[in-house]
Amino acid sequence: MSDSPFESYLEMVDRVGALLHYDESTLGPLRAPKRSIIVSIPIEMDNGQVEVFTGYRVQYDTIRGPGKGGIRYHPAVTLDEVKALAAWMSVKCAVVDIPFGGAKGGVAVDPARLSLRELERLTRRYVAEIFDIIGPDRDIPAPDVGTHPQVMAWVMDTISMKRGYVEPGTVTGKPVPLGGSRGREEATARGLMYAVQAALRVLGQPLEGARVVIQGYGNVGSHAARLLHEAGARIIAVSDVRGGITDPKGLDPQAVIRHLTATGSVVGLPGTMPVSNADILTMECDILVPAALEQQITEENADRVRARLIAEGANGPTTPDADAMLRERGIFIIPDILCNAGGVVVSYFEWVQDRYGYFWKEAEVRERLAEKMTQAFSDVLQTASQHEVDMRTAAYAMGVSRIAEARRLRGLYG
Ligand code: NAD
Repeated sequence: MSDSPFESYLEMVDRVGALLHYDESTLGPLRAPKRSIIVSIPIEMDNGQVEVFTGYRVQYDTIRGPGKGGIRYHPAVTLDEVKALAAWMSVKCAVVDIPFGGAKGGVAVDPARLSLRELERLTRRYVAEIFDIIGPDRDIPAPDVGTHPQVMAWVMDTISMKRGYVEPGTVTGKPVPLGGSRGREEATARGLMYAVQAALRVLGQPLEGARVVIQGYGNVGSHAARLLHEAGARIIAVSDVRGGITDPKGLDPQAVIRHLTATGSVVGLPGTMPVSNADILTMECDILVPAALEQQITEENADRVRARLIAEGANGPTTPDADAMLRERGIFIIPDILCNAGGVVVSYFEWVQDRYGYFWKEAEVRERLAEKMTQAFSDVLQTASQHEVDMRTAAYAMGVSRIAEARRLRGLYG
């Protein structure tokens, strides 16, 4: 039986604690969130009935700066999951060295079941319930699974209306006309591509012609497909929640998007063959990109994964047991807290631009993102070789040590 996502995080804290010889005074504060809140969100549905949803916001660590992390709308959202996602955000922000702590929010809801108006009412009421603890200096939400720039626009509007002035820096991933950053929408995938390029340099393999399999075709998966395709890779299979498609000759990511927009799924794109979400993970390929949910690569399927490189677009897609099995088999893994950090890096750029009131060209965003990702990758690689550990342990060691150092310098209040 796999550990829960939060237990996976705790396991990494223990591993890093042993590696860095930290005592319990240092490790203890990393084991529990600073604040978790559960809110009840009653909304009037279009049919006049009131339905009540459950929402969460967890601020894991705010030692290095305000909390930062997305809002997830998914039926399986639980406090344990949001806690894990918030903890991972804390370490991720430290790995890429941006001045944020970690946070995350979520509502247990299937957004596909709601009308646009119901989605807006849900968002505004959720934000009203967590209003007191968020803001540009406290905790800055962003998109995650099931949420998108329009949802962020409602978040910003609700906060701005309650404050009585426009506060764009209170949320990132907004539409560009509301103070969003150019390049934010594709940022996670672009950062992933930079990480993949760096990893392939280590492995001595080209991206040109590499066979890529992607699970999940949302924000991260679809942009990753497009960017890797543009860089010369061959996307041989992709999937979404309803199933997958494959074409050994290579899919056209834009044609997949058009089919998805028209039908609601990637499944059934003419000229492709079907493949299940379980089978897609064990297809023979050069690069496997899990970009859906956590706990997809487990001890059940890890021995059948046939990729040379795994680029974790999703948060927590690999369980600790599976991670050990993959490492044993020599598969190079770019861990989530490094691989998908491009999203929070450009969210940081968006927050900086909002506070400045001065906006950058897309080329500038890309250049700065490339710099951050390449630096973080090489720092993690160096840490891995220094301690003779894998990339995930090295990334945690870097992140955790930066958080611990900040905590030591600040000391305990009270
Ligand atoms: P999204 O909602 O845009 O897309 C999710 C995709 O996964 C969709 O294609 C959906 O159909 C598919 N999916 C859902 N459940 C699935 C299942 N059980 N099996 C297969 N596919 C399934 O979400 P996103 O923003 O692309 O996020 C995907 C992952 O990347 C998540 O783990 C998220 O936490 C992580 N992430 C996102 C960002 C970001 O900026 N959006 C940043 C860092 C990490």
